[in-house]
Amino acid sequence: MMSLKNVNLLHLLDNAQIGVVIHTWDTQVVYANPAALSLLNVTLEHIKKSSGLDEQWEFIDRQNRRLHKDEFPVNKVIRLNAAINEEIVGIVCRQTGQVRWAKVSAYPETYSDTELGFVVVYFTEVTEQLTHFSFEDIVKNAQDMIIVTEAQNVTGPLSPKIIYVNDAICRVSGYTQDELIGETPRIFQGALTDSTATLRIREALLAKESVTETLLNYSKNGTPYWVEMNIFPLKNQLGEVTHFASVERDVSTTKFHSEQLNSRNQELKLIKQNLETLVTEQTRELRNANVKLEKLAYFDALTDIPNRRAFNDALDKAIHFAHRQEFGLLVGIADIDHFKQLNDTYGHGFGDDVLVIFANLLKTFFRQEDGIGRLGGEEFGFCMVVPKEHDVNCVVERLREKVEALPLRYAELKEKQFTVSVGAYCAKMLQNMTARELLDMADNALYTAKRGGRNRVEVITQVPSNTKAC
Ligand code: GH3
Ligand code: MG
Ligand code: MG
Repeated sequence: MMSLKNVNLLHLLDNAQIGVVIHTWDTQVVYANPAALSLLNVTLEHIKKSSGLDEQWEFIDRQNRRLHKDEFPVNKVIRLNAAINEEIVGIVCRQTGQVRWAKVSAYPETYSDTELGFVVVYFTEVTEQLTHFSFEDIVKNAQDMIIVTEAQNVTGPLSPKIIYVNDAICRVSGYTQDELIGETPRIFQGALTDSTATLRIREALLAKESVTETLLNYSKNGTPYWVEMNIFPLKNQLGEVTHFASVERDVSTTKFHSEQLNSRNQELKLIKQNLETLVTEQTRELRNANVKLEKLAYFDALTDIPNRRAFNDALDKAIHFAHRQEFGLLVGIADIDHFKQLNDTYGHGFGDDVLVIFANLLKTFFRQEDGIGRLGGEEFGFCMVVPKEHDVNCVVERLREKVEALPLRYAELKEKQFTVSVGAYCAKMLQNMTARELLDMADNALYTAKRGGRNRVEVITQVPSNTKAC
Protein backbone atom coordinates (compact mmCIF):
# COMPACT_ATOMS: atom_id res chain seq x y z
CA MET A 1 0.00 0.00 0.00
CA MET A 2 1.20 3.41 -0.81
CA SER A 3 2.30 5.53 2.11
CA LEU A 4 0.98 9.07 2.70
CA LYS A 5 4.58 10.18 2.42
CA ASN A 6 4.33 9.55 -1.29
CA VAL A 7 1.68 12.23 -1.70
CA ASN A 8 3.07 15.37 -3.24
CA LEU A 9 1.58 17.87 -0.82
CA LEU A 10 2.66 20.89 -2.83
CA HIS A 11 0.92 19.48 -5.86
CA LEU A 12 -2.16 18.98 -3.71
CA LEU A 13 -2.05 22.58 -2.53
CA ASP A 14 -1.59 23.84 -6.09
CA ASN A 15 -4.85 22.21 -7.02
CA ALA A 16 -6.83 22.97 -3.87
CA GLN A 17 -9.96 25.19 -3.99
CA ILE A 18 -8.85 26.76 -0.73
CA GLY A 19 -6.40 29.59 -1.01
CA VAL A 20 -3.18 28.96 0.87
CA VAL A 21 -0.37 31.43 1.55
CA ILE A 22 2.68 30.51 3.56
CA HIS A 23 4.73 33.24 5.19
CA THR A 24 8.02 33.09 6.94
CA TRP A 25 8.06 34.44 10.47
CA ASP A 26 9.16 37.83 9.12
CA THR A 27 5.97 37.77 6.98
CA GLN A 28 7.71 37.22 3.65
CA VAL A 29 5.58 35.10 1.32
CA VAL A 30 7.23 31.86 0.38
CA TYR A 31 4.30 30.15 -1.18
CA ALA A 32 0.85 31.01 -2.54
CA ASN A 33 -1.33 28.58 -4.43
CA PRO A 34 -3.34 29.59 -7.54
CA ALA A 35 -6.63 29.87 -5.58
CA ALA A 36 -4.97 32.38 -3.23
CA LEU A 37 -3.43 34.33 -6.12
CA SER A 38 -6.79 34.57 -7.81
CA LEU A 39 -8.57 35.81 -4.69
CA LEU A 40 -5.82 38.29 -3.84
CA ASN A 41 -5.62 39.26 -7.50
CA VAL A 42 -1.80 39.08 -7.71
CA THR A 43 0.79 37.04 -9.57
CA LEU A 44 3.11 34.58 -7.91
CA GLU A 45 6.16 36.73 -8.70
CA HIS A 46 4.55 39.74 -7.22
CA ILE A 47 3.40 38.07 -4.06
CA LYS A 48 6.72 36.42 -3.47
CA LYS A 49 8.34 39.85 -3.36
CA SER A 50 5.86 41.14 -0.80
CA SER A 51 5.38 40.76 2.89
CA GLY A 52 2.45 41.05 5.28
CA LEU A 53 3.62 44.54 6.15
CA ASP A 54 3.40 45.87 2.62
CA GLU A 55 1.29 48.95 1.94
CA GLN A 56 -0.26 47.28 -1.06
CA TRP A 57 -2.68 45.21 1.02
CA GLU A 58 -5.96 46.65 2.00
CA PHE A 59 -8.29 44.59 4.14
CA ILE A 60 -11.56 45.55 5.77
CA ASP A 61 -13.79 44.03 8.44
CA ARG A 62 -17.52 43.32 8.25
CA GLN A 63 -18.23 46.88 9.29
CA ASN A 64 -16.21 48.07 6.32
CA ARG A 65 -13.48 49.44 8.61
CA ARG A 66 -9.98 49.28 7.22
CA LEU A 67 -7.84 46.80 9.11
CA HIS A 68 -4.69 48.05 10.79
CA LYS A 69 -1.56 46.15 9.72
CA ASP A 70 -1.46 44.49 13.13
CA GLU A 71 -4.87 43.02 12.40
CA PHE A 72 -3.81 41.42 9.10
CA PRO A 73 -4.19 37.64 9.64
CA VAL A 74 -0.51 36.88 9.28
CA ASN A 75 0.58 39.71 11.56
CA LYS A 76 -2.03 38.79 14.13
CA VAL A 77 -0.80 35.21 14.27
CA ILE A 78 2.81 36.38 14.70
CA ARG A 79 1.89 38.97 17.28
CA LEU A 80 -0.25 36.60 19.33
CA ASN A 81 1.69 33.50 18.38
CA ALA A 82 -1.67 31.81 18.17
CA ALA A 83 -4.03 30.59 15.49
CA ILE A 84 -6.99 32.57 14.22
CA ASN A 85 -10.09 30.85 13.12
CA GLU A 86 -12.52 31.62 10.33
CA GLU A 87 -12.39 35.38 10.50
CA ILE A 88 -14.24 37.21 7.78
CA VAL A 89 -11.96 39.63 5.98
CA GLY A 90 -12.73 41.80 2.99
CA ILE A 91 -9.97 42.03 0.39
CA VAL A 92 -10.14 45.38 -1.37
CA CYS A 93 -8.92 45.57 -4.95
CA ARG A 94 -6.73 48.63 -5.17
CA GLN A 95 -7.57 49.24 -8.82
CA THR A 96 -11.34 48.85 -8.79
CA GLY A 97 -12.22 49.22 -5.12
CA GLN A 98 -14.20 46.00 -5.42
CA VAL A 99 -14.37 43.89 -2.25
CA ARG A 100 -14.10 40.12 -2.17
CA TRP A 101 -14.90 38.47 1.09
CA ALA A 102 -12.89 35.57 2.50
CA LYS A 103 -13.19 33.35 5.53
CA VAL A 104 -9.62 33.31 6.83
CA SER A 105 -7.88 30.90 9.18
CA ALA A 106 -4.16 31.00 10.01
CA TYR A 107 -1.83 29.27 12.38
CA PRO A 108 1.84 29.39 13.35
CA GLU A 109 3.88 26.47 12.17
CA THR A 110 6.85 26.30 14.57
CA TYR A 111 9.52 23.64 14.58
CA SER A 112 10.98 24.10 17.99
CA ASP A 113 11.14 26.66 20.75
CA THR A 114 14.24 28.14 19.26
CA GLU A 115 13.58 27.97 15.55
CA LEU A 116 11.13 30.39 13.97
CA GLY A 117 8.77 28.64 11.67
CA PHE A 118 6.07 29.69 9.19
CA VAL A 119 2.63 31.17 9.24
CA VAL A 120 0.13 29.30 7.15
CA VAL A 121 -2.88 31.34 6.04
CA TYR A 122 -5.75 29.67 4.25
CA PHE A 123 -8.97 31.08 3.12
CA THR A 124 -12.10 30.46 1.11
CA GLU A 125 -14.10 33.07 -0.73
CA VAL A 126 -17.53 33.77 0.77
CA THR A 127 -18.46 36.86 -1.22
CA GLU A 128 -21.51 35.23 -2.71
CA GLN A 129 -22.74 33.79 0.57
CA LEU A 130 -22.41 37.20 2.21
CA THR A 131 -23.97 39.29 -0.49
CA HIS A 132 -26.62 36.90 -1.70
CA PHE A 133 -30.18 37.57 -0.69
CA SER A 134 -33.19 35.37 -1.09
CA PHE A 135 -36.13 36.38 -3.23
CA GLU A 136 -38.21 34.04 -1.20
CA ASP A 137 -37.42 36.15 1.85
CA ILE A 138 -38.79 39.19 0.04
CA VAL A 139 -41.99 37.39 -0.82
CA LYS A 140 -42.30 35.85 2.61
CA ASN A 141 -41.80 39.09 4.49
CA ALA A 142 -43.51 41.50 2.13
CA GLN A 143 -46.19 43.76 3.61
CA ASP A 144 -48.37 42.93 0.62
CA MET A 145 -50.19 39.60 0.65
CA ILE A 146 -48.94 37.06 -1.86
CA ILE A 147 -50.70 33.87 -2.87
CA VAL A 148 -49.63 31.37 -5.50
CA THR A 149 -52.18 28.95 -6.90
CA GLU A 150 -51.97 26.21 -9.43
CA ALA A 151 -53.24 27.10 -12.88
CA GLN A 152 -55.52 24.07 -13.15
CA ASN A 153 -59.23 23.99 -12.38
CA VAL A 154 -60.03 27.55 -13.37
CA THR A 155 -63.21 26.13 -14.88
CA GLY A 156 -65.37 23.50 -13.26
CA PRO A 157 -66.54 23.16 -9.70
CA LEU A 158 -63.06 23.22 -8.21
CA SER A 159 -60.98 26.37 -8.01
CA PRO A 160 -57.23 26.58 -8.44
CA LYS A 161 -55.48 25.24 -5.35
CA ILE A 162 -53.37 27.47 -3.15
CA ILE A 163 -49.79 26.22 -2.99
CA TYR A 164 -48.11 29.17 -1.32
CA VAL A 165 -49.10 32.04 0.96
CA ASN A 166 -46.79 34.55 2.58
CA ASP A 167 -46.88 35.78 6.17
CA ALA A 168 -48.94 38.89 5.34
CA ILE A 169 -51.86 36.75 4.15
CA CYS A 170 -51.93 34.88 7.43
CA ARG A 171 -51.64 38.11 9.39
CA VAL A 172 -54.56 39.80 7.61
CA SER A 173 -56.85 36.80 7.11
CA GLY A 174 -56.22 35.07 10.45
CA TYR A 175 -55.75 31.69 8.75
CA THR A 176 -52.56 29.70 9.29
CA GLN A 177 -50.42 28.64 6.37
CA ASP A 178 -51.51 25.02 6.89
CA GLU A 179 -55.16 26.00 6.78
CA LEU A 180 -54.68 27.79 3.47
CA ILE A 181 -52.39 25.48 1.53
CA GLY A 182 -54.56 23.12 -0.53
CA GLU A 183 -57.58 25.39 -0.16
CA THR A 184 -58.83 27.69 -2.96
CA PRO A 185 -59.00 31.50 -2.90
CA ARG A 186 -62.78 31.13 -2.49
CA ILE A 187 -62.06 30.65 1.20
CA PHE A 188 -61.68 34.45 1.39
CA GLN A 189 -64.95 35.24 -0.35
CA GLY A 190 -68.28 35.81 1.34
CA ALA A 191 -71.84 37.06 1.02
CA LEU A 192 -70.98 40.58 -0.13
CA THR A 193 -68.06 39.73 -2.39
CA ASP A 194 -68.83 41.21 -5.80
CA SER A 195 -69.63 38.19 -8.01
CA THR A 196 -69.17 40.21 -11.21
CA ALA A 197 -65.61 40.99 -10.11
CA THR A 198 -64.89 37.32 -9.36
CA LEU A 199 -66.30 36.49 -12.79
CA ARG A 200 -63.93 39.00 -14.40
CA ILE A 201 -61.04 37.36 -12.53
CA ARG A 202 -62.13 33.93 -13.74
CA GLU A 203 -62.29 35.12 -17.34
CA ALA A 204 -58.81 36.63 -17.09
CA LEU A 205 -57.44 33.40 -15.61
CA LEU A 206 -59.08 31.41 -18.39
CA ALA A 207 -57.40 33.66 -20.92
CA LYS A 208 -54.17 33.32 -18.90
CA GLU A 209 -53.95 37.07 -18.59
CA SER A 210 -53.20 39.29 -15.66
CA VAL A 211 -56.05 41.12 -13.95
CA THR A 212 -56.49 43.80 -11.31
CA GLU A 213 -59.58 43.97 -9.12
CA THR A 214 -60.66 45.41 -5.80
CA LEU A 215 -62.58 42.76 -3.92
CA LEU A 216 -64.24 42.32 -0.55
CA ASN A 217 -62.56 39.47 1.33
CA TYR A 218 -63.42 37.93 4.67
CA SER A 219 -61.01 36.95 7.40
CA LYS A 220 -61.30 33.65 9.28
CA ASN A 221 -63.46 35.28 11.95
CA GLY A 222 -65.74 36.85 9.32
CA THR A 223 -64.37 40.38 9.34
CA PRO A 224 -64.64 41.85 5.84
CA TYR A 225 -61.71 43.77 4.35
CA TRP A 226 -61.04 45.24 0.94
CA VAL A 227 -58.11 44.02 -1.10
CA GLU A 228 -56.73 45.40 -4.28
CA MET A 229 -55.30 42.41 -6.11
CA ASN A 230 -53.14 41.98 -9.13
CA ILE A 231 -53.16 38.41 -10.41
CA PHE A 232 -50.66 37.36 -13.07
CA PRO A 233 -49.69 34.06 -14.69
CA LEU A 234 -46.40 32.31 -13.94
CA LYS A 235 -44.77 30.26 -16.68
CA ASN A 236 -42.46 27.28 -16.60
CA GLN A 237 -39.33 27.07 -18.72
CA LEU A 238 -41.38 25.78 -21.65
CA GLY A 239 -43.47 28.91 -21.53
CA GLU A 240 -46.56 27.11 -20.20
CA VAL A 241 -48.68 28.79 -17.56
CA THR A 242 -48.45 26.56 -14.53
CA HIS A 243 -49.39 28.91 -11.68
CA PHE A 244 -50.96 32.23 -10.89
CA ALA A 245 -49.51 34.63 -8.40
CA SER A 246 -51.71 37.18 -6.71
CA VAL A 247 -50.25 40.22 -5.00
CA GLU A 248 -52.86 41.79 -2.77
CA ARG A 249 -53.00 44.86 -0.61
CA ASP A 250 -55.43 45.64 2.17
CA VAL A 251 -57.09 48.86 1.01
CA SER A 252 -59.93 48.91 3.54
CA THR A 253 -58.81 52.22 5.02
CA THR A 254 -58.29 53.83 1.62
CA LYS A 255 -61.58 52.41 0.40
CA PHE A 256 -63.34 53.67 3.54
CA HIS A 257 -61.87 57.11 3.01
CA SER A 258 -62.66 57.17 -0.67
CA GLU A 259 -66.24 56.08 0.07
CA GLN A 260 -66.51 58.79 2.70
CA LEU A 261 -65.12 61.23 0.17
CA ASN A 262 -67.58 60.00 -2.43
CA SER A 263 -70.56 60.37 -0.17
CA ARG A 264 -69.32 63.81 0.90
CA ASN A 265 -68.99 64.69 -2.77
CA GLN A 266 -72.54 63.47 -3.37
CA GLU A 267 -73.73 65.61 -0.47
CA LEU A 268 -71.86 68.60 -1.83
CA LYS A 269 -73.30 67.95 -5.28
CA LEU A 270 -76.79 67.85 -3.77
CA ILE A 271 -76.15 71.03 -1.81
CA LYS A 272 -74.88 72.67 -5.00
CA GLN A 273 -77.95 71.51 -6.93
CA ASN A 274 -80.25 72.76 -4.16
CA LEU A 275 -78.40 76.04 -4.14
CA GLU A 276 -78.67 76.33 -7.89
CA THR A 277 -82.40 75.59 -7.73
CA LEU A 278 -82.76 78.13 -4.94
CA VAL A 279 -80.82 80.72 -6.90
CA THR A 280 -82.89 80.01 -10.04
CA GLU A 281 -86.11 80.28 -8.04
CA GLN A 282 -84.97 83.43 -6.31
CA THR A 283 -83.82 84.93 -9.60
CA ARG A 284 -87.21 84.14 -11.08
CA GLU A 285 -88.95 85.63 -8.04
CA LEU A 286 -86.69 88.66 -8.22
CA ARG A 287 -87.44 89.06 -11.90
CA ASN A 288 -91.18 88.77 -11.18
CA ALA A 289 -90.83 91.24 -8.33
CA ASN A 290 -88.96 93.59 -10.65
CA VAL A 291 -91.68 93.26 -13.26
CA LYS A 292 -94.24 93.98 -10.54
CA LEU A 293 -92.20 96.93 -9.28
CA GLU A 294 -91.83 98.25 -12.78
CA LYS A 295 -95.55 97.88 -13.21
CA LEU A 296 -96.13 99.66 -9.94
CA ALA A 297 -93.74 102.40 -10.96
CA TYR A 298 -95.17 102.87 -14.44
CA PHE A 299 -98.72 101.53 -14.32
CA ASP A 300 -101.77 102.68 -12.48
CA ALA A 301 -102.82 100.00 -10.02
CA LEU A 302 -106.58 100.45 -10.47
CA THR A 303 -106.90 100.75 -14.24
CA ASP A 304 -103.73 98.92 -15.32
CA ILE A 305 -102.82 101.61 -17.84
CA PRO A 306 -99.66 103.79 -17.68
CA ASN A 307 -99.59 106.32 -14.84
CA ARG A 308 -98.78 110.02 -15.17
CA ARG A 309 -95.02 109.34 -15.02
CA ALA A 310 -95.12 106.72 -17.79
CA PHE A 311 -97.42 108.91 -19.85
CA ASN A 312 -94.98 111.82 -19.56
CA ASP A 313 -92.17 109.52 -20.81
CA ALA A 314 -94.31 108.42 -23.75
CA LEU A 315 -95.21 112.03 -24.47
CA ASP A 316 -91.51 113.05 -24.47
CA LYS A 317 -90.71 110.26 -26.93
CA ALA A 318 -93.64 111.25 -29.15
CA ILE A 319 -92.49 114.91 -29.13
CA HIS A 320 -88.99 113.91 -30.25
CA PHE A 321 -90.28 111.56 -32.90
CA ALA A 322 -92.77 114.04 -34.32
CA HIS A 323 -90.20 116.80 -34.24
CA ARG A 324 -87.56 114.69 -36.02
CA GLN A 325 -89.99 113.34 -38.64
CA GLU A 326 -91.79 116.68 -39.01
CA PHE A 327 -95.13 115.23 -38.01
CA GLY A 328 -97.88 116.85 -36.06
CA LEU A 329 -98.69 115.80 -32.49
CA LEU A 330 -102.08 115.57 -30.83
CA VAL A 331 -102.09 115.82 -27.04
CA GLY A 332 -105.36 115.50 -25.14
CA ILE A 333 -106.93 115.23 -21.69
CA ALA A 334 -110.21 113.41 -21.14
CA ASP A 335 -112.02 114.13 -17.90
CA ILE A 336 -115.12 112.27 -16.73
CA ASP A 337 -118.00 114.66 -16.20
CA HIS A 338 -119.54 115.08 -12.78
CA PHE A 339 -117.53 112.20 -11.46
CA LYS A 340 -117.87 113.34 -7.91
CA GLN A 341 -121.59 113.11 -8.33
CA LEU A 342 -121.30 109.58 -9.76
CA ASN A 343 -119.34 108.58 -6.72
CA ASP A 344 -121.77 110.22 -4.41
CA THR A 345 -124.79 108.74 -6.12
CA TYR A 346 -123.68 105.20 -6.89
CA GLY A 347 -120.80 104.72 -4.54
CA HIS A 348 -117.02 104.83 -4.78
CA GLY A 349 -116.93 101.24 -6.07
CA PHE A 350 -119.01 102.17 -9.02
CA GLY A 351 -116.74 105.19 -9.57
CA ASP A 352 -113.80 102.76 -9.68
CA ASP A 353 -115.63 100.57 -12.21
CA VAL A 354 -116.21 103.60 -14.40
CA LEU A 355 -112.50 104.47 -14.26
CA VAL A 356 -111.58 100.91 -15.32
CA ILE A 357 -114.17 100.85 -18.11
CA PHE A 358 -112.95 104.17 -19.46
CA ALA A 359 -109.29 103.08 -19.20
CA ASN A 360 -110.13 99.90 -21.16
CA LEU A 361 -111.82 101.99 -23.80
CA LEU A 362 -108.67 104.13 -24.11
CA LYS A 363 -106.58 100.93 -24.49
CA THR A 364 -108.68 99.70 -27.40
CA PHE A 365 -109.29 103.10 -28.94
CA PHE A 366 -105.65 104.13 -29.28
CA ARG A 367 -102.94 102.24 -31.16
CA GLN A 368 -99.85 100.63 -29.69
CA GLU A 369 -97.66 103.52 -30.84
CA ASP A 370 -99.92 106.17 -29.27
CA GLY A 371 -99.56 107.21 -25.64
CA ILE A 372 -102.24 106.94 -22.97
CA GLY A 373 -102.17 107.30 -19.18
CA ARG A 374 -104.11 108.12 -16.05
CA LEU A 375 -103.01 111.60 -15.01
CA GLY A 376 -104.85 111.40 -11.67
CA GLY A 377 -108.39 111.05 -10.33
CA GLU A 378 -110.79 110.83 -13.31
CA GLU A 379 -108.40 112.59 -15.68
CA PHE A 380 -106.73 110.70 -18.52
CA GLY A 381 -104.13 111.84 -21.05
CA PHE A 382 -103.41 110.70 -24.57
CA CYS A 383 -101.04 111.65 -27.36
CA MET A 384 -100.62 110.57 -30.95
CA VAL A 385 -98.26 111.44 -33.74
CA VAL A 386 -100.34 112.50 -36.75
CA PRO A 387 -99.67 113.65 -40.30
CA LYS A 388 -99.82 117.42 -40.45
CA GLU A 389 -102.94 117.46 -42.60
CA HIS A 390 -104.78 114.86 -40.48
CA ASP A 391 -108.20 115.86 -39.14
CA VAL A 392 -107.75 115.31 -35.42
CA ASN A 393 -111.14 116.77 -34.45
CA CYS A 394 -112.95 113.73 -35.64
CA VAL A 395 -110.54 111.45 -33.77
CA VAL A 396 -111.26 113.19 -30.50
CA GLU A 397 -114.97 113.41 -31.25
CA ARG A 398 -115.05 109.67 -31.96
CA LEU A 399 -113.60 109.04 -28.50
CA ARG A 400 -116.37 111.03 -26.87
CA GLU A 401 -118.95 109.13 -28.93
CA LYS A 402 -117.44 105.80 -27.87
CA VAL A 403 -117.99 106.83 -24.24
CA GLU A 404 -121.58 107.67 -24.99
CA ALA A 405 -122.02 104.27 -26.59
CA LEU A 406 -120.55 102.37 -23.60
CA PRO A 407 -123.92 101.38 -22.06
CA LEU A 408 -124.47 99.25 -25.16
CA ARG A 409 -121.52 97.15 -24.08
CA TYR A 410 -121.86 97.43 -20.30
CA ALA A 411 -125.38 96.67 -19.06
CA GLU A 412 -124.56 98.09 -15.61
CA LEU A 413 -124.14 101.54 -17.23
CA LYS A 414 -127.69 101.59 -18.64
CA GLU A 415 -129.17 103.83 -15.97
CA LYS A 416 -125.88 105.29 -14.92
CA GLN A 417 -124.62 106.75 -18.13
CA PHE A 418 -121.43 108.82 -17.81
CA THR A 419 -119.85 111.19 -20.26
CA VAL A 420 -116.44 112.73 -20.81
CA SER A 421 -115.22 116.11 -21.86
CA VAL A 422 -112.06 116.17 -23.91
CA GLY A 423 -109.63 119.00 -24.45
CA ALA A 424 -106.87 118.55 -27.01
CA TYR A 425 -104.09 120.50 -28.60
CA CYS A 426 -102.78 119.70 -32.05
CA ALA A 427 -99.23 120.99 -32.60
CA LYS A 428 -98.11 121.19 -36.22
CA MET A 429 -94.60 122.46 -35.58
CA LEU A 430 -93.24 121.23 -32.29
CA GLN A 431 -89.97 123.12 -32.36
CA ASN A 432 -89.11 123.73 -28.73
CA MET A 433 -92.48 122.92 -27.18
CA THR A 434 -92.29 120.92 -23.97
CA ALA A 435 -94.64 118.24 -22.66
CA ARG A 436 -95.75 120.63 -19.92
CA GLU A 437 -96.67 123.33 -22.45
CA LEU A 438 -98.56 120.88 -24.62
CA LEU A 439 -100.51 119.51 -21.63
CA ASP A 440 -101.28 123.05 -20.47
CA MET A 441 -102.71 123.80 -23.91
CA ALA A 442 -104.80 120.62 -23.74
CA ASP A 443 -105.93 121.55 -20.23
CA ASN A 444 -107.02 124.95 -21.51
CA ALA A 445 -109.06 123.25 -24.20
CA LEU A 446 -110.58 120.94 -21.59
CA TYR A 447 -111.56 123.90 -19.48
CA THR A 448 -113.33 125.35 -22.52
CA ALA A 449 -115.12 122.04 -23.15
CA LYS A 450 -116.31 121.89 -19.55
CA ARG A 451 -117.42 125.44 -19.63
CA GLY A 452 -119.18 124.74 -22.90
CA GLY A 453 -121.51 122.29 -21.15
CA ARG A 454 -119.52 119.04 -20.78
CA ASN A 455 -119.83 115.89 -22.90
CA ARG A 456 -117.97 117.89 -25.55
CA VAL A 457 -114.64 117.98 -27.24
CA GLU A 458 -112.54 121.06 -27.75
CA VAL A 459 -109.47 120.91 -29.98
CA ILE A 460 -107.07 123.84 -30.23
CA THR A 461 -104.95 123.63 -33.32
CA GLN A 462 -101.65 125.40 -33.52
CA VAL A 463 -101.46 127.86 -36.37
CA PRO A 464 -97.82 128.61 -36.97
CA SER A 465 -97.04 131.50 -39.18
CA ASN A 466 -95.66 129.37 -42.05
CA THR A 467 -98.13 126.44 -41.95
CA LYS A 468 -101.78 126.10 -42.57
CA ALA A 469 -104.19 124.70 -40.01
CA CYS A 470 -105.07 121.03 -39.96
P1 GH3 B 1 -116.28 117.91 -13.55
O1 GH3 B 1 -117.39 117.49 -14.40
O2 GH3 B 1 -116.12 119.42 -13.50
O3 GH3 B 1 -115.05 117.24 -13.89
O4 GH3 B 1 -116.70 117.50 -12.09
P2 GH3 B 1 -116.15 116.25 -11.30
O5 GH3 B 1 -117.08 115.93 -10.22
O6 GH3 B 1 -115.89 115.16 -12.27
O7 GH3 B 1 -114.77 116.76 -10.76
P3 GH3 B 1 -114.23 116.94 -9.33
O8 GH3 B 1 -112.75 117.32 -9.48
O9 GH3 B 1 -115.09 117.86 -8.58
O10 GH3 B 1 -114.32 115.56 -8.67
C1 GH3 B 1 -113.49 114.48 -8.95
C2 GH3 B 1 -113.77 113.34 -8.03
O11 GH3 B 1 -113.10 112.17 -8.41
C3 GH3 B 1 -113.39 113.65 -6.64
C4 GH3 B 1 -112.76 112.36 -6.14
O12 GH3 B 1 -113.34 111.88 -4.97
C5 GH3 B 1 -113.02 111.39 -7.26
N1 GH3 B 1 -111.96 110.47 -7.41
C6 GH3 B 1 -110.64 110.71 -7.61
N2 GH3 B 1 -109.96 109.57 -7.74
C7 GH3 B 1 -110.87 108.55 -7.62
C8 GH3 B 1 -110.78 107.13 -7.64
O13 GH3 B 1 -109.73 106.54 -7.82
N3 GH3 B 1 -111.93 106.42 -7.51
C9 GH3 B 1 -113.13 107.00 -7.32
N4 GH3 B 1 -114.22 106.26 -7.20
N5 GH3 B 1 -113.23 108.34 -7.26
C10 GH3 B 1 -112.14 109.10 -7.41
MG1 MG C 1 -114.42 115.42 -13.70
MG1 MG D 1 -111.23 116.34 -12.87
